[in-house]
Amino acid sequence: MPKYFINEPSDKAEGQLLQLEGDTAYHLIKVLRVRIGEEVILCDGKETDYYCIVESIDSLTLTCLILSKHQCETEPKCKISLFQAMPKADKFEWVIQKSIELGVYEIIPIYTDHSIKKNANVERFQKIAESAAGQSMRGIIPKVHYPTSWEGVKYQTKFKYSIVAHEKEDLKTIKSVMNSPLKNNKLQDQVALWIGPEGGFSKNEITLMEEYEFQLVTLGPRILRSETAAIAAIAKILMETEGT
Ligand code: SAH
Repeated sequence: MPKYFINEPSDKAEGQLLQLEGDTAYHLIKVLRVRIGEEVILCDGKETDYYCIVESIDSLTLTCLILSKHQCETEPKCKISLFQAMPKADKFEWVIQKSIELGVYEIIPIYTDHSIKKNANVERFQKIAESAAGQSMRGIIPKVHYPTSWEGVKYQTKFKYSIVAHEKEDLKTIKSVMNSPLKNNKLQDQVALWIGPEGGFSKNEITLMEEYEFQLVTLGPRILRSETAAIAAIAKILMETEGT
């Protein structure tokens, strides 16, 4: 059953109608060619799923009848904020898609000493995020932020762990870091994951990250491409927090 996100308030009930217009309706009508009587899942982006049946199609408006309402159970308990050094656009789009499939909470593209500095089409990135979120049955659309200098976000304190994938680290792993005693138990569920660009983080950046007590970790003895590193690290974090 296809899943789409809607901008409706979350207080609709069984038996009520939901009307879709714009991009989503266009996609359902013209691309998927849904028919009256077919079932779709419409999500409010706040972890409420409406299981619906298409009731009428009127040029570019789709009216759906809510059959039942469910709490979406697919969101990971651990919120992973991916701080990804800006790679080339197509690679970044790949990271958005795959990291959202795995369950990342938000993506913050960062400029670092060795990363590409250029304008990014954040609107396009957010569309890719929405379609990946629908495809993988997420309960939210993860936000893709405007690219920013990593210095601008370094002091964020909402995270229980700030984990930096660093190819020169050979001792600490995601598993060892996440199993060590915690300093701040209140921040249960928030992890910052920092992934460097093709040229890696600079020496200066690594020194600063150590000063901020970020945890440098290895992802194994082989050097991964930046985008592979992001996906591997997310999977490892989820293994520690969700067990799958
Ligand atoms: N140019 C560097 C490699 C950078 S790899 C070199 O040749 O040494 C790009 C990014 O992916 C790194 O900044 C790091 O965040 C991550 N990465 C790749 N392989 C890794 C590994 N084995 N362990 C930890 N991080 C890794």
